Amino acid sequence: MLQGKIFDIKRFAIHDGPGIRTTIFFKGCNMKCLWCHNPEGLDESNDIFYYEEKCIRCGDCITACPEDALVMNNKTMIDRKKCSTCGACVEVCPTESLTRAGRDVHLQALMDTIKRSKIFYETSGGGVTISGGEPLFHFDFVKELAKKCKEENIHVALDTAGHIQPKRFKKIMKYFDLFLYDLKIIDEDEHIKYTGVTNRYVIQNLEELSEQGRGGEVWIRFPMIPDITYTEANIEDMIGFLSDLNSIEDIYILPFHDVEEKYKKLGRPYSLSSIDIRAPTKREIKKMKDKFSKAGFRVHIGG
Ligand code: SF4
Ligand code: SF4
Repeated sequence: MLQGKIFDIKRFAIHDGPGIRTTIFFKGCNMKCLWCHNPEGLDESNDIFYYEEKCIRCGDCITACPEDALVMNNKTMIDRKKCSTCGACVEVCPTESLTRAGRDVHLQALMDTIKRSKIFYETSGGGVTISGGEPLFHFDFVKELAKKCKEENIHVALDTAGHIQPKRFKKIMKYFDLFLYDLKIIDEDEHIKYTGVTNRYVIQNLEELSEQGRGGEVWIRFPMIPDITYTEANIEDMIGFLSDLNSIEDIYILPFHDVEEKYKKLGRPYSLSSIDIRAPTKREIKKMKDKFSKAGFRVHIGG
């Protein structure tokens, strides 16, 4: 029985595609974007979140921990080196100050969850969105999951950054009705600098979708980060590249917001803390929107 690893399932989601959806977040990614908003999706290891503001300092977690990884020091402190992410503390915490991100799922169990909302997909024009992390990191599982959804006549969207060998991408693309496709930086060296990987596959797979006449089923998602993705050169490059494809219609601009707090709750280092970075202003977002609109795209903010 096929098994995958996820960090969350959102039922009744109204983002990440049309209508009411079930969005499944797979754990693990093959990029390392400095601004990642889902750091719990970066790798496949389990994560423990600690929400200090909910903690009532009862100490139950400390008693439950088999690894002596917890101490109370005004707040609960986790020694991440000792923590085996067993989740015993999560089980006993009365306030959900501790939560675990990461669990194995079986295909059939996941399908059972998905099918419970079928009536909502049908009445709202919704479906399932397979997201992450990078869902294609779990290639075989995701392929089977998408196939099963198709058998059930459920609309399936893939939320991907497209960094996968083109021959593999070709094998899987037929199972999806919609692609939420991240496009970050066109210049390859800049892409490597900020994501850790080349963008060659990202570009090639998008070209393939377009060549197969599926550009209308692609929503480009652009994380807008001043001085990193939002530069004059990158915007010109993006407009040029997407216009040449001649089939992409929708662009979603995702303005950057700081997620350092999330990294702290997870006990992970936040790479952007050493970089002078800011959210784009309303004026910049409007300017960006106008540029893409002028080039003929339907532009959406957020989503
Ligand atoms: S997850 Fe397990 S090892 Fe880690 S702090 Fe909680 S109880 Fe201790
Ligand atoms: S069990 Fe939960 S509420 Fe109690 S001290 Fe631990 S983290 Fe805080």
